[in-house]
Amino acid sequence: MFKKLREYVHKDVKFEDETSQFFVMMRIYYLITAVYIVIYLIITLATGTWRQMPIVLVWLPLHIASFFSTYRFRRRAVFHTFSCGILIWIVSAVYYLGWSYGAQYFMYPLMVISFFATYQNRLGKIIYVVSLCIMHEILYAYTRSHEPVVVFPENVGYLVQILHTLTLFVCMFVICFIFSNTNQSALAKLAVYNERLKREAETDALTGLMNRHSMYKILDNYMNDDKIQTFTVAMGDIDHFKQINDTRGHNCGDEVLRTLSAYFKEAVSNHGTVCRWGGEEFLFLFPSMGADKAYEIVSEMRRHIENIPISFEGETFNLTVTFGIEEYNSQIPMTELISRADEKLYRGKNSGRNKVVK
Ligand code: GH3
Ligand code: MG
Ligand code: MG
Repeated sequence: MFKKLREYVHKDVKFEDETSQFFVMMRIYYLITAVYIVIYLIITLATGTWRQMPIVLVWLPLHIASFFSTYRFRRRAVFHTFSCGILIWIVSAVYYLGWSYGAQYFMYPLMVISFFATYQNRLGKIIYVVSLCIMHEILYAYTRSHEPVVVFPENVGYLVQILHTLTLFVCMFVICFIFSNTNQSALAKLAVYNERLKREAETDALTGLMNRHSMYKILDNYMNDDKIQTFTVAMGDIDHFKQINDTRGHNCGDEVLRTLSAYFKEAVSNHGTVCRWGGEEFLFLFPSMGADKAYEIVSEMRRHIENIPISFEGETFNLTVTFGIEEYNSQIPMTELISRADEKLYRGKNSGRNKVVK
């Protein structure tokens, strides 16, 4: 039971860019104050001070809703719900009980949480604190000219005072404890998130291959690296791919791209890298390799592709790919290198497709 509650309280948030720390803290805060409300209710019932029942009746549902809001909403919404709840509580508790029971001190957890929970700028934070301070003074001024609605018998009043103090201390302890803990979990989560963003930015979503942008970066590094003497690129383009889309459907076309990409990745894993250059075009990079050796590897791939069975919705078929190869030559820029490979590819297309031209 306790373990389940603990797990429930520590449940991570569904937003990848949010850490659970704040939400866990709010949940613990709500649980502590739930105990407080129950004790408060008991005192109210036991002492017959019914007249303040409306506060508890307003606050209790708000409180329960706020607890569950930590599982559904983002930090800002959770914080505003919390602010509303606690401010309603402070105003009504001061109205009913006056100043001496210390309900107004619940502003302190609110102030601390507001600093940690929201991404306000400096001015926003100052305005927030000043507003709380003004509110504090207005409430105090009110209590100087108005008698409290409820006056507890002396012993009970002492009990309420202790209850407020204890609740506040425990709440402040939880807040400080959680926030003073290292923010390692936040950093670790952000690091994973950033890593994923980076990977996604470098990867083609359909095929899982590197995308054109990343290949550009690699080629750029190669061309600016004096130590690199030679490398070769090859541009591959699926033959009659449009026909596959037209006759078998776009999903089938996608399946072809995935199957071929998986093969390309595996085929060049020992020799170089491959990216999805565009629609049904792939650019291969063979580091430290001249055009002749690259030609051998690419020709072997071309032969192999002819025999790759592509299955889609119960039918199996084959396809071919045409390639153009160009060896790096330090005299030419990257765009020229690639367009030369492209020109050779189109020579291959014009001479019947399913060819490797070097
Ligand atoms: P060629 O042999 O001359 O290369 O002819 P082709 O039909 O392969 O070439 P074309 O340039 O006429 O057609 C390429 C097609 O690739 C057109 C486009 O709709 C399709 N295509 C591009 N990206 C995708 C994709 O992500 N998925 C699918 N299914 N089709 C795509
Ligand atoms: Mg094309
Ligand atoms: Mg094509």
